[in-house]
This record gives sequence, C-alpha cells and structure tokens, in this order.
Amino acid sequence: MSQIDRSKVSRWDLHGREHVVRVRRSGARRTLRCDTCGWRRVAPFLPWLRAQEHLADAHQATVNPAAA
Ligand SMILES: [Zn+2]
Repeated sequence: MSQIDRSKVSRWDLHGREHVVRVRRSGARRTLRCDTCGWRRVAPFLPWLRAQEHLADAHQATVNPAAA
C-alpha cells in the first residue's frame, strides 16, 4: 500500500483491459478524466471514489491491479 499513485485510478475489466481515470488538481478542485471514453467530472471531495464509480459503471472495470 506504500506506492499508491494519487494522480490516477486504474482498474481492469473482465477482459483484462486497463481503464484509467486521471486525477488532476487545479487549485482547490480536482478534475477527473477518463482515458477510455473522455468522461470528465469535477470532484471536490473523494475524487478517487468517483473515479472508481465511473470505472465500474461505465466500463465494468472493478479489478484493482494494485491489489492483485
Ligand atoms: Zn470512461
């Protein structure tokens, strides 16, 4: 757990494809952007949780490579 990359959230889907949501800090806000589909969202709170929700809902990507 010591090497968490706070600038992105990556998950694998059922087909083993990796989907990445990048977390960019701009001032007090954080902006999320999905590499796969271009989805964007401003997430003032818990941006990593929002990223995980998007990956699960939009791409059925729920496998955390860091936990493998
Ligand atoms: Zn997406």
